[in-house]
Amino acid sequence: MEHFSWKPFSRVAICGGTHGNEMTGVYVLREMERKKVDKIGSVSVTRVLSNPEAVKVCRRYMDKDLNRCFTDALLSEPLTASSPHEMKRAHELNALLGPKGSPQAVDFLCDIHNTTANMGVCFIFYRLDWIAMHLFKYVQSKASFGPIRAILHESTVALVSVRALMRYNFTLEVGPQPNGVIRADIYNMVTETLDLIMDWFEKFNSGSTFEGGEVETFCQTTVLDYPRDPTTNEITAAVHPQLQDNDFKLLRPGDPIFLSFNGDVVTYEGEEAYPFFVNECAYYEKKIAFQLAQRVNISIPSVSLKKD
Ligand SMILES: [Zn+2]
Repeated sequence: MEHFSWKPFSRVAICGGTHGNEMTGVYVLREMERKKVDKIGSVSVTRVLSNPEAVKVCRRYMDKDLNRCFTDALLSEPLTASSPHEMKRAHELNALLGPKGSPQAVDFLCDIHNTTANMGVCFIFYRLDWIAMHLFKYVQSKASFGPIRAILHESTVALVSVRALMRYNFTLEVGPQPNGVIRADIYNMVTETLDLIMDWFEKFNSGSTFEGGEVETFCQTTVLDYPRDPTTNEITAAVHPQLQDNDFKLLRPGDPIFLSFNGDVVTYEGEEAYPFFVNECAYYEKKIAFQLAQRVNISIPSVSLKKD
């Protein structure tokens, strides 16, 4: 496969508290703040507590999910006094880190999230991003813990041919951790991951070549809602104990997925797939009980510094 080269990474942003009740990122950022970390090796680090107002009240968001506020259409809308809090914050963050797609935007962004699902450490990609995939491969090969998995959103694969990769980023999604809670094991996995990421940038900037190869990813294909009462729309079942905490364990047709409150078992009827975000707290409002993925191997090119 071809080779991919890129300019040095001089400015990396580490974000936490994008959802105000996901505490790992919040405490990682506070600790970096306390130590006044603003440069690691040759890379300057921009520390971003994304939604301090939501952190203060330990809520996912105040008015609107901040993660849904960064589309070009929303960012170009003028703000008014009645704009949702998160829209105002999205404009501020866009000015601080971007503007989106511009040459002065940060070179790389890592956004730290927690899930209540038993997913371990996951890198979530929203497009095929060779740099982020190399970071994933590097962390996976060096970390003292595991497994570490890569998740591709469905839309990502459709974008394979879009090679205009102007901004690199991924979401670090780590669990299980209840909202508002900080767990030491999760905190340590995240700080080790961040150390390895900064390590990679240092090696990349000093001229190392990283070999390409196959990367195993879980490509999101579909989402499933809870069974609901057709009249009240209330859920009528919980995730089945055999599925609970079994993220990434192959689900086969006939496997139990929900246990109704009246005792009935609901079984799975689709094709074999890998469940993830099983019983994620924040997804009740989005009507998602769990998501499904297929395992897809992606070939990534070798990467190194562009010489000019
Ligand atoms: Zn989150």
